Amino acid sequence: MGIRHLPDHLINQIAAGEVIERPAAALKELLENSIDAGATQIEIDLREGGKTLIAVRDNGCGMSRDDLSLALDRHATSKLSDEDLFNIRFLGFRGEALPSIASIARVKIASRQNGVGEAWEITAADGQKSQVRPSQQAQGTYVEIRDLFYATPARLKFLKTANAEYAAAKETVQRLALVNPGIAFRLSHNGATSLHYPVLSDLYDRQSKTRLDQVIGSDFTTNALPIDAQRGMASLQGFISIPTYNRGTAQNQYIFVNGRAVKDKFLYGAVRAAYQDVLARDRYPVVALFLTLASEDVDVNVHPAKAEVRFRDNASVRGLIVSSLLHAIRGASLQANSGLGQSVVSHFQMPPAQVFNYQRDYTQNASVYGNLAEPVASFYQPGMDIAPSARFEAVAPNPEAVNYPLGSARAQLHENYIVAQTDSGIIIVDQHAAHERLVYEKFKKHLNDNKIPKQGLLTPEIINLDDTEAALLLENKIQLENLGLDIEAFGMGAVAVRTIPALLTGRVDIGMLVRDIVDELKEQAVSTLLEEKMNALLSTLACHGSVRSGRRLSAEEMNALLRQMEETPSSGQCNHGRPTFVSLSLKDIEKLFSRR
Ligand code: ADP
Ligand code: MG
Repeated sequence: MGIRHLPDHLINQIAAGEVIERPAAALKELLENSIDAGATQIEIDLREGGKTLIAVRDNGCGMSRDDLSLALDRHATSKLSDEDLFNIRFLGFRGEALPSIASIARVKIASRQNGVGEAWEITAADGQKSQVRPSQQAQGTYVEIRDLFYATPARLKFLKTANAEYAAAKETVQRLALVNPGIAFRLSHNGATSLHYPVLSDLYDRQSKTRLDQVIGSDFTTNALPIDAQRGMASLQGFISIPTYNRGTAQNQYIFVNGRAVKDKFLYGAVRAAYQDVLARDRYPVVALFLTLASEDVDVNVHPAKAEVRFRDNASVRGLIVSSLLHAIRGASLQANSGLGQSVVSHFQMPPAQVFNYQRDYTQNASVYGNLAEPVASFYQPGMDIAPSARFEAVAPNPEAVNYPLGSARAQLHENYIVAQTDSGIIIVDQHAAHERLVYEKFKKHLNDNKIPKQGLLTPEIINLDDTEAALLLENKIQLENLGLDIEAFGMGAVAVRTIPALLTGRVDIGMLVRDIVDELKEQAVSTLLEEKMNALLSTLACHGSVRSGRRLSAEEMNALLRQMEETPSSGQCNHGRPTFVSLSLKDIEKLFSRR
């Protein structure tokens, strides 16, 4: 068999294989087209998760009769006018989506161009376009995809259940809705409306906050810190959750680059690095971040579905993200998770039915409770009937300290919980968690202010890498040295490690550490591994070096701990993202007694 050109239809199917892996991907392409067309209203209809129908109606600029026929041709686009791949101002630019989809599904497009009287439509099936025919269609465009993958049965088998496909499609709508707060979105599934994000005002800032509330929930926005940073031509806006508001997956990390929803490992890595000190490795913050760069500083033409991007200057993008997030996190050390007080209250509250039963039992079955006077009296004699561990000593409030954010210590309960009174509520501090954080911060500060102590190795450890890896590592020689890791070139493709951070002596496999650092450098241009390893160790040391629960504290000690917490960055959570204190407002407490 000689070499031959593949038929167009097959080429389109191959392209579709890359870009359209599931209904959500086809939907993303249609939505991006509507956004590119300047629509302010987009309506989406799905059946069976998009497997049998994906329909998108927009009120954008529409297409002329000629354009309509071209839209289904391969590499035909209206979006690359100046033929410059590094100046892309639209979400689309390849002219591939519609012909690819038309090669694997039945497609209908109806459109009326802005300011034109008549509307037109075209259909395609089996890769064959129909003639353009007159149509009934208001201004804008309607695209309908039926029976996706019917032409490629092998692909059809890879689809998940309708519900799973629907979930992915819905997420696609939500991501695009977040970054387009000026567009109203409506999504229906099997005939029922499932999402509706109206546009409420034309004030862009207010609308984008509203959209965050609509999409992620007001729970997030009340527990979020605003980000607004600029570095050179790059800027970063958005919101990030306080560390104690975290999730078990990265699902709720919405990151956008120049208006494009991306799922980029490099960007997720930068977010993780910013939180590494306040969150356990398996916990994830919720973020909505909008990164804006000059279009020539970012290459969007690296991923067929445009889900990943490349930056001209990785290190500076990472720097912008890490430093602005860190700044926000550190500045917010004392913001308590608003949900925590609520959840404390809900634990206290008994279900109404039970309260009722309890009262009835209580009156009907007086014998069970016997003489009330007795148990009541025992309450007023501390220590008589109360387990020793529950004993506490009350301290008179210090009138000045009440005005501090964490208030004035009033008591220690169960030898671990400090109860403090503020001007508007109660604070409960986990003394062990809090002290651990303080010790940890102190260790870190010490390391920052002083040179990191190194431990020389008796015989240098030789690590064999390939030559590009060795070169990459040596490019970062100075940074690594500052962290206590001295390396030198050792012939072709090998390095010699001469010192390691003293802290890590005997605790790491040096070869493995260096190889991991290389991997990280390859992936994200910067390595934070060494720092993270040391921080992890410090945090273990801090745990051992801090006040254990079970230790009695005097009033002075308790108040000193509160004051230190107020002064220490990030003291609101331990190193794993668990809170070090909760606050109950008087309002919360009133709720407990059904006063509200
Ligand atoms: P691309 O978006 O990369 O240009 P597509 O295959 O997605 O490629 O679309 C081809 C062309 O069809 C677009 O360049 C645009 O001119 C036109 N088009 C597609 N969808 C719409 C729409 N909803 N409104 C107006 N024009 C559209
Ligand atoms: Mg497109």
